[in-house]
Amino acid sequence: MRIIRSPRQMQSEMLQLRRRGLTIGFVPTMGALHAGHLRLLAHARRQNDRVILSIFVNPTQFNQRQDFTRYPRPFARDARLARKASADYLFAPTAREMYPPGHQTTVEAPALARRWEGAYRPGHFRGVATVVTKLLALVQPTILYVGEKDAQQARLIEQLVEDLHPATRVIVVPTVREPDGLAMSSRNTRLSPTERRDALVVFEALQAAGRLIKSGECRRGVVLRRMRTVVARAPSARLEYAAVVDPRTLEPVTVARGQVRLLIAAWIGRTRLIDTLRVRCQRPVRCQG
Ligand code: AMP
Repeated sequence: MRIIRSPRQMQSEMLQLRRRGLTIGFVPTMGALHAGHLRLLAHARRQNDRVILSIFVNPTQFNQRQDFTRYPRPFARDARLARKASADYLFAPTAREMYPPGHQTTVEAPALARRWEGAYRPGHFRGVATVVTKLLALVQPTILYVGEKDAQQARLIEQLVEDLHPATRVIVVPTVREPDGLAMSSRNTRLSPTERRDALVVFEALQAAGRLIKSGECRRGVVLRRMRTVVARAPSARLEYAAVVDPRTLEPVTVARGQVRLLIAAWIGRTRLIDTLRVRCQRPVRCQG
């Protein structure tokens, strides 16, 4: 596995691969790799000639300085895991190389980024849209792999690829969970043992809401109340938002038909976690707010 730091060098290496007719699978991450990232890499490995992992803690997508500085950066361990997962290239640029002095251009996030994470983390999705556009220009992958866990980010990236025409396909990989259901996340390492137990309410709230919907209860108010009740069971948990949305537009549903997506964001102590679940409504029922 080759470790590349320079964006220009990355671009020319990738150009050579494409000239040789090789397909490129790309997994962009912020590092602190876990089984979720490794699942994305495994998909990329199966479906492409070459696999590229990027690790870049992108400063422009953090709306809180402290979240950025506290973000874990175990680079040597990550490189070992990437090698074990048979990545061919590890692209790990510095912030100064990605945003050199004088950098001015940003990518405006699409409308579907306004709500939820977009509302609670001002500027976050502009940072995501900008860095993903830059990474796509450098790597020009055949297939880009993203995780369903960050459902709004995944939709934003699908939309961005649809709108800006990079020659890339997006594959969204289902969420990988701990045995007890907690969605794998680099931020989980910050949880104390008590918080780790409390964090379970995030997925439990989704499951409880999912069960309600499957049993035919599609009234949004009732579903959201159930999610709030479950989160309130954990002393260190504070719900930021819970939502029942259309899986494509991410707008709140008023009439639940077919598939809906549940979204949740909650603070567990000083750590913010998000999760999501796709649920099929058994019968179309009018939903009320
Ligand atoms: P991050 O390093 O958190 O920016 O995540 C890099 C990529 O891995 C994103 O596309 C995430 O959606 C994806 N990812 C993160 N956690 C998981 C998970 N538990 N299961 C599947 N994909 C994940």
